Amino acid sequence: MSVRVRFAPSPTGPLHIGGVRTALYNYLLAKQQGGAFILRIEDTDQKRLVPGAEDYIKQSLEWLGLTPDEGPGYGGEHGPYRQSERKDLYAKYAEQMVADGNAYYAFDTPEELDKMRKDQEALGHHSAKYDARIRLQMRNSLTLDQEEADKLIAEGKGIIRLKMPADEDVSFVDLVREKVTFNTDQLDDKVILKADGMPTYHLANIVDDHLMEITHVIRGEEWLSSTAHHVLMYRFLGWEAPKFTHLPLILKPTGKGKLSKRDGAKFGFAVFPMEWYDKKEEVTYAGFKESGYDPKALLNFLVLLGWNPGNDEELMSIERMTELFSLDKIVKSGARFDVDKSKWFNQQYLMSTPDAHLLPPVKAIKPEGLVVEDAYLTKVIGLMKERVHHYGDFYTEGSYFFSAPTEYDDKQIKKRFKPEIVPHLEVIKAMVSTHSGDPSAMSTAVKGYLSDKELKMGVYLPLLRIMICGRLTGPDLFDIIVALGAEETSSRMVKASEYFNATLS
Ligand code: GLU
Repeated sequence: MSVRVRFAPSPTGPLHIGGVRTALYNYLLAKQQGGAFILRIEDTDQKRLVPGAEDYIKQSLEWLGLTPDEGPGYGGEHGPYRQSERKDLYAKYAEQMVADGNAYYAFDTPEELDKMRKDQEALGHHSAKYDARIRLQMRNSLTLDQEEADKLIAEGKGIIRLKMPADEDVSFVDLVREKVTFNTDQLDDKVILKADGMPTYHLANIVDDHLMEITHVIRGEEWLSSTAHHVLMYRFLGWEAPKFTHLPLILKPTGKGKLSKRDGAKFGFAVFPMEWYDKKEEVTYAGFKESGYDPKALLNFLVLLGWNPGNDEELMSIERMTELFSLDKIVKSGARFDVDKSKWFNQQYLMSTPDAHLLPPVKAIKPEGLVVEDAYLTKVIGLMKERVHHYGDFYTEGSYFFSAPTEYDDKQIKKRFKPEIVPHLEVIKAMVSTHSGDPSAMSTAVKGYLSDKELKMGVYLPLLRIMICGRLTGPDLFDIIVALGAEETSSRMVKASEYFNATLS
């Protein structure tokens, strides 16, 4: 049987970076095994739906290159792939479980449920659950007489709950954890069908995994405890369960707990693949895309958050990840989200990618109003790419390639500038014009002049750099000068000399 995996997000908001990792691992297994990667939208909880979230999820997957083989809008023979469009499919399975004595109708009102919890707490049972111990004290088809129950069901007042067997160990194999066991006494009688006929996550999830012929379920660790319920439902319905793998948490950069969107806002980095405007909070959350990451670098960073190839290979293309990926190398312990490491991956990607390939994405985030030719931008990319981490850095760190500095490092100027050096700077300015097309000839000429006159390189070269770039860091000065051209360089030197004189007079 060929591998079929699914990524099954609920469109309740943007795709968290942990969700992207889940999608990636599913995608890698599917591609490696020649199987299918399916996108299923789990939207049964209509109250929690957020407009735009489904589109956001699809756009993010496409930006990352994790395009589904099947899914809403992607075709496939197991559709529809949006659970709300499959609504009529689920009830019969819940009813079958009732008929077989594995589930029952419940009629308790929210007030009655609340009272049950309070009563239980008063008796010292904290976090009381609707379970085997409680169910016979509640209003359901196990306690009401048949006629009354049938009437309530006919009126559409019943929900269906799973009937957990008493004190039974339910075990399943998780490919990361090996054998996992839950005792049913710790598990509640989960609601599987709501009064309006809509299934809950648990029922819809297993029915769809079965009908869509899913072979492997790869999802976040938070679903581990639900898996016992799922395994029981597979048994109740006489279906074979898929293989389960639960992925470790992604932890905050520092401290305890899992990475949240608040961490991103607090520390100033993205936790979402693309920017997301939260209408309720009126807050825009940063995206990796807009922060200037390349999707290939982001995937490379993410694949190693919870998995490794078993050696120290770090830099991997998607093809290489596909080749090396294996579920048994997924780790159990949480993976720390290291922002610096994500930058490092992006930098490595920039360094190993031809300048011309970097042009389109760099151009795509060009600041508004900036007019720059492709050939020039490509040259800047080549000079700067070893020094930047993100696409946007080309414009910020390399701002002097696009406009003359408006500020100079006064401290550095004061340290080096004396009026007697002005005539020498004039000579250097002339040399710049003479050798305007050849950085190494220009470098030789300027350095030769300084050494002939016994002038200090450590004074003149930094000053020259400040005149042209406003700051002391950057690629080779003569490469910058050649890129800018003689005219622009001269004009910057004139402007800077005026500033230097004014500063020091
Ligand atoms: N809808 C669930 C979620 O958003 C899917 C869990 C699963 O993959 O089974 O996480």
